[in-house]
Amino acid sequence: MVKSAVLGFPRIGPNRELKKVTESYWNGKVTVDDLFKVGKELRAQNWKLQKDAGVDIIPSNDFSYYDHVLDLSLLFNVIPDRYTKYQLSPIDTLFAMGRGLQRKATETEKAVDVTALEMVKWFDSNYHYVRPTFSHSTQFKLNGQKPVDEFLEAKELGIQTRPVLVGPVSFLYLGKADKDSLDLEPLSLLEKLLPLYVEILQKLAAAGATEVQLDEPTLVLDLPKEVQAAVKTAYTFLGNQAGLPKITLATYFGTVVPNLDALKELPIAGFHFDFIRAAEQFDDVASIIGANQTLSVGIVDGRNIWKNDFAKSSEFVQKAISKLGAERVIVATSSSLLHTPVDLNNENKLNAELKNYFSFATQKLEEVVVIAKNVSGQDVSAALEANAKSVAAKASSTFINDPAVQQRVASIDKKMSTRAAPFGERLAEQEKAFNLPLFPTTTIGSFPQTKDIRINRNKFTKGTISAEEYEQFINSEIEKVIRFQEEIDLDVLVHGEPERNDMVQYFGEQLKGYAFTTNGWVQSYGSRYVRPPIIVGDLSRPKAMSVKESVYAQSLTKKLVKGMLTGPITCLRWSFPRVDVDQKTQALQLALALRDEVNDLEAAGIRVIQVDEPAIREGLPLRAGAERSDYQQWAAEAFRVATSGVANKTQIHSHFCYSDLDPNHIKALDADVVSIEFSKKDDANYIAEFKDYPNHIGLGLFDIHSPRVPSKEEFITKIETILKTYPAEKFWVNPDCGLKTRGWEETRLSLTNMVNAAKYFREQY
Ligand code: GLN
Ligand code: ZN
Repeated sequence: MVKSAVLGFPRIGPNRELKKVTESYWNGKVTVDDLFKVGKELRAQNWKLQKDAGVDIIPSNDFSYYDHVLDLSLLFNVIPDRYTKYQLSPIDTLFAMGRGLQRKATETEKAVDVTALEMVKWFDSNYHYVRPTFSHSTQFKLNGQKPVDEFLEAKELGIQTRPVLVGPVSFLYLGKADKDSLDLEPLSLLEKLLPLYVEILQKLAAAGATEVQLDEPTLVLDLPKEVQAAVKTAYTFLGNQAGLPKITLATYFGTVVPNLDALKELPIAGFHFDFIRAAEQFDDVASIIGANQTLSVGIVDGRNIWKNDFAKSSEFVQKAISKLGAERVIVATSSSLLHTPVDLNNENKLNAELKNYFSFATQKLEEVVVIAKNVSGQDVSAALEANAKSVAAKASSTFINDPAVQQRVASIDKKMSTRAAPFGERLAEQEKAFNLPLFPTTTIGSFPQTKDIRINRNKFTKGTISAEEYEQFINSEIEKVIRFQEEIDLDVLVHGEPERNDMVQYFGEQLKGYAFTTNGWVQSYGSRYVRPPIIVGDLSRPKAMSVKESVYAQSLTKKLVKGMLTGPITCLRWSFPRVDVDQKTQALQLALALRDEVNDLEAAGIRVIQVDEPAIREGLPLRAGAERSDYQQWAAEAFRVATSGVANKTQIHSHFCYSDLDPNHIKALDADVVSIEFSKKDDANYIAEFKDYPNHIGLGLFDIHSPRVPSKEEFITKIETILKTYPAEKFWVNPDCGLKTRGWEETRLSLTNMVNAAKYFREQY
């Protein structure tokens, strides 16, 4: 019998129960017991769901009140001193580390003021984990026994689970040294950490656990030799301990082949590999499976929402069976299902045909079970038949295929992705037409999204105000923003984006080929969840999407108004993409739709157009090599297809945030002006990296995540530092990113100081 396994299940609940209760707890509206009660209910619900679906290997300890990596920091007492000195309870320590804590003193409690630990993207997903933060004073010891408690909780419900923990090498390698211990190399702590793994695994064994899953996703990265060696050391050590549960080492999100040596001859029970992301690794990884080891075949996608193709997957699993025998093969999700929405049955507005092509976490449980039964020779013909029908219907669906779009993508040539003249010539024409001062000032696009804006948008969505009333409201917001910018004397104005709920969803809703869920939430970090739109078919733009608002804004002022669009790569990255065509094709389809929009904006008299690409860095493949350079090439091409249809005198801007950028990649976009998040970096090396950037550039001068107002002098100092390496002629003055989460008051003060600093420098030059 081939078994089925799930690597992790979404913890947020079918109706975002976890978000609601944690936020209520933070606001003091419910007690810690209320919080724990909901947590316990969610865990029980998830285990039962999996049990009822017939899943053989069900995870536990995949639940977390904030982040499962942070849970592990707490479990191993990797808690910087600044969080321990207030005698907070374990759960409050967890939240303080995850999101910071500021609390005034009361009669019984001291005042608390700590910032959060660093949070970073979990590989190339949109999940963020809290970085384990080590220092010389870290005292490794077991702090509680969350994995054991949750294992026992399931056991009491009559459900045997396989606890999951991030493995020791990934835990260290994904962590960092704390400020006070910068010379500390986290990996050097392996010897101190391993005994704690032994201790917790012993406790799990004593509680009745027969197997555990240790996640080592770092194995899909380019690993230095010493990290590979650490994998070997760690699993040789753990595997040789007597009396521990059987260990399955799980990897996902890519191929492990370049690190394969580290996995050879490890004394552990088995491995899990991701064959959705890296089917090509099969022969190589199968060759290292030892005579008594199992292979967990990750074949149900943990990162996307498309229905599995049972026939294809079964065939793949058969390959493993013929090599290893049915007893040693497991059918599994490719990764944890954390990255997919909870339940398709919660969608009642979705078109029925489309719904038939999707599968969310709950549906994926059935998928692993059916495939496992099928390859074991059990009769699942009804499920197979329905699945084959759906697969066939999708292949010829008119929702999906649009020959006109496909032809247009095929006809993209070099000319379409190249501006008519090189930057120097364009700039000369733009300078003549615009007459901007030195140190031109601008913003990144959005202005405060006030409560009033949200209320009116909701009214419009619900139909309680008419389209005309809503348009009037939006126009009045645009007018407010234009008058404000004129008043504080910015040079290149924006309309403020009051009509946009989200920078991808807003355009997605207007493009043909996109679908939206009403409840398809996925955890991004802590209590922040996102609802990614789904690219279902060939993408095209039935009509202009942003021209009306930009033209209205321009009609109100003599100053330049910058049109504002979301770029093709960001639209792609923040959506669930198609899997039946490659990502490049989807990016180019988006690029063509945006190209039409850019051209329409130009035709309507908009002379500066910004195409935002904040997600361009996160799309970078995890490993260096052909795939990565391909990506860099097609991502840049998509941007240029979108923006190269305009005349020389139309100025193209782009914007990037969230990450360290590669100046060469940015260069390949050939935007006339780029604005880059910079305020928190303040790093001379980073400035130097952009020194040779040939076009114009604005390094973000203040942090838009904080209500703090920088003074004019602060702006001056910052600009002076940049001017040491960076020529004044190329200099733009702008904030880090859009101001949508800020209040009006601090926005007015910060921008005024910024403009005055620019004016100060104009007098100097
Ligand atoms: N134009 C967008 C805004 O100002 C850009 C947002 C982003 O880069 N994340 O909000
Ligand atoms: Zn940004």
